[in-house]
Amino acid sequence: MNIHEYQAKALFKEFGVPVQDGVAVKSPAEFDAAIASLPGDHIVVKSQIHAGGRGKGVFADGFKGGVKFVAKSEAADTAKKMLGNTLITKQTGPQGRTVATLFFAEAVDIDKEYYLSILMDRASSKIAIVASLAGGMDIEKVAEETPDQILTMLVDPDIGLQPFQVRKLGYFLGFGAKEMMKQWSAVIKGLFKLFWSKDCSMVEVNPLVLTKDGKLLCLDAKVSFDDNARFRHPEVEALRDPHEEDPKEIEAGKFGLNYIALDGNIACMVNGAGLAMSTMDIIKFFGGNPANFLDVGGGANEEAITQAFNILLKDKNVKGILVNIFGGIMKCDVIAAGVIAAVKNVGLTLPLVVRLEGTNVEKGRQMLAESGIKLTTADSLADAAEKIVKIVANENK
Ligand code: ADP
Ligand code: MG
Repeated sequence: MNIHEYQAKALFKEFGVPVQDGVAVKSPAEFDAAIASLPGDHIVVKSQIHAGGRGKGVFADGFKGGVKFVAKSEAADTAKKMLGNTLITKQTGPQGRTVATLFFAEAVDIDKEYYLSILMDRASSKIAIVASLAGGMDIEKVAEETPDQILTMLVDPDIGLQPFQVRKLGYFLGFGAKEMMKQWSAVIKGLFKLFWSKDCSMVEVNPLVLTKDGKLLCLDAKVSFDDNARFRHPEVEALRDPHEEDPKEIEAGKFGLNYIALDGNIACMVNGAGLAMSTMDIIKFFGGNPANFLDVGGGANEEAITQAFNILLKDKNVKGILVNIFGGIMKCDVIAAGVIAAVKNVGLTLPLVVRLEGTNVEKGRQMLAESGIKLTTADSLADAAEKIVKIVANENK
């Protein structure tokens, strides 16, 4: 799960990490008061979307820059052009993201920019701190072209961040002077504590800046949380912005379904993540394209199956459905009942291929056969995938 920059900065503050002042707004009525509350005669207007590269982004109507340094007198006009507009950046894909929140931030006189991130390094089972002298730039590009500008420090999760590591990173970034090292320690220790205590998968500051008056500040802030630990953090859950997520995925979550939208046209309903992955692979193998990943889980009941159908059908790209269930804990007759109920409830007209196997399979097949529903049955995974791919291809010639 991701959060917005303004929310990440509020968390930074909680952990004693310096950020510049700012105010988040959601409507033009709030603009003037927010602008007036900030010091100086310039401010930075920042689009809040769950994607980076906003500064270099372009809006759908051609307006350039999702992050703008402006005189206070022009700030409200600039903000009006951004709010409600669609921002397209390198990370949003061509469809872009609608800007529903803006962050007015105090303008800062920048002397130097740095890059800093903390993330899970799966290869070493440690936490990696990545620091770079090339701030504000694409870190992947820096890693490729000038790897000597990057220092990666692995932190053992059992012993935590050690003082020598803080110093080594600090010297690398040029913060050797006593006063700078003190500021740097507060930044990295605070961010590490945040990362650890909130079960983050990433904390990224790009750029971390040194201001002209010698202060270290986080100018940008990106935080993502490990979804598997979300139950431990209701306070994090409260930061969730449904506006930024696929409504189908949120709906699926409510019913304990693991759903991820994709851009193909064959909807898949499968039980078990492994089987769901193989089903997607085999659809691809026969030349089709899956519209989603959907694992209905081991214990789905009739209602969950009906909901799963509803969610699949909300995707207007879907041209056919493949149900592939292996009844272990999940019984085939329950799936059959769900399929029948769902087809009747939602008035399904799309082609449907069903492959059932496992516990109570005979009963399930019989129920489907007697239901009068128009569907194609299949007796193996390959057979099912081949059939749905062919049907969808034929119908959409
Ligand atoms: P993104 O990474 O999404 O493009 P940033 O918050 O990093 O957004 O902003 C892009 C650039 O804008 C920064 O690298 C920095 O140079 C400049 N900038 C951002 N905030 C401020 C600020 N408060 N004062 C001065 N310049 C800023
Ligand atoms: Mg940035």
